[in-house]
Amino acid sequence: MKELDRKRILVTGGAGFLGSHLCERLVEAGHDVLCVDNFFTGTRENVAHLLGRSNFELMRHDVTFPLYVEVDEIYNLACPASPIHYQYDPVRTTKTSVHGAINMLGLAKRVRAKIFQASTSEVYGDARVHPQKEDYWGHVNPIGPRSCYDEGKRCAETLFVDYRRQYGMEVRIARIFNTYGPRMHPADGRVVSNFMVQALSGEPLTVYGDGSQTRSLCYVDDLIDAFIRLMNAPDGTCDPVNLGNPHEITMLELAEHIKEATGSDSEIVFRPLPIDDPWHRQPDIGKARALLGWAPSTSLGEGLRATAEHFRERLASRPAAQCT
Ligand code: NAD
Ligand code: UDP
Ligand code: UDP
Repeated sequence: MKELDRKRILVTGGAGFLGSHLCERLVEAGHDVLCVDNFFTGTRENVAHLLGRSNFELMRHDVTFPLYVEVDEIYNLACPASPIHYQYDPVRTTKTSVHGAINMLGLAKRVRAKIFQASTSEVYGDARVHPQKEDYWGHVNPIGPRSCYDEGKRCAETLFVDYRRQYGMEVRIARIFNTYGPRMHPADGRVVSNFMVQALSGEPLTVYGDGSQTRSLCYVDDLIDAFIRLMNAPDGTCDPVNLGNPHEITMLELAEHIKEATGSDSEIVFRPLPIDDPWHRQPDIGKARALLGWAPSTSLGEGLRATAEHFRERLASRPAAQCT
């Protein structure tokens, strides 16, 4: 890489599932990467393979506190993403999204860095428009068990666009739809990791509700491509962009696909549907296609087989540990 193209890049939440893949990609591209994480749901193990690289640094830090470093770009991913983890300490979840955004925006303003926010399809809530387009304002319960996450992320978006309007900063906002892949924590609690661990351990797959609710699942490698394209999109690309895979399936179909990908004969059992569980979710990615020339290319079958491989190795090497 030419010295001019080499950037100092901060990745918050860099020891988590998505963050570790992003750090890996940026380190491979030759950038100097500073990974900041408080290890709430992420682990050192996720980035252990990068620790010996001269262009990678790991710092334990909580983004709700100020951070003074010198960087050219910031990817702000710090925030628990699985319902069981973000509902464990909801006040802290909102603080992470809101105070974390303020601190990272303040940092970006001081050092004139471009800054990327990992927002979410949850800003659409239990959507009344299908598929979801960026101009839909959403249908979100402000006082339910998911609100700490949904409203925290909505407020973070507000802060990003206001720092843009008020200070002319270059911001990027990715509305990420459900993503899965290697390095999801076995105790993460989201649907793909739960079904994978259950299928590979011969335990019943726990489908919540009757399994007719839908999600659209994106493989992690495709999503990380989109992150980097969005960060590098022309100046002025500051409005939110949906990133995800439009291929929509029911959770019952997903259970069957995971049984097939793992070769499992586990039974499927039904458990109560969590409160405010969104019914349908599918991104309209027309904007990402037009703006970034991007669309996911990994099929669900390929992605699930690669993910199953990861979980097989992980479960063989040690029993499913709890998140710290
Ligand atoms: P993850 O839980 O694996 O990663 C989150 C990381 O943030 C962890 O390493 C955690 O320790 C760290 N973190 C949490 N609070 C922190 C704090 N206060 N200070 C510093 N670090 C902190 O989840 P993920 O799936 O990798 O999600 C990454 C980001 O992408 C999150 O912001 C999430 O909201 C967003 N997102 C993910 C998905 C998805 O499907 N994976 C979908 C939509 C949005
Ligand atoms: N901040 C930070 N690192 C910096 C600059 C700012 O963490 O390099 C934090 C600091 O806590 C500040 C917040 O970002 O309160 C918002 O900064 P801004 O300049 O927007 O507002 P301030 O509160 O300083 O007026
Ligand atoms: N789900 C399920 N079994 C599980 C975990 C989740 O049926 O063991 C369902 C959950 O109710 C939701 C969907 O799968 O309808 C996706 O859940 P996840 O927690 O992965 O993400 P989110 O609800 O935030 O989209």
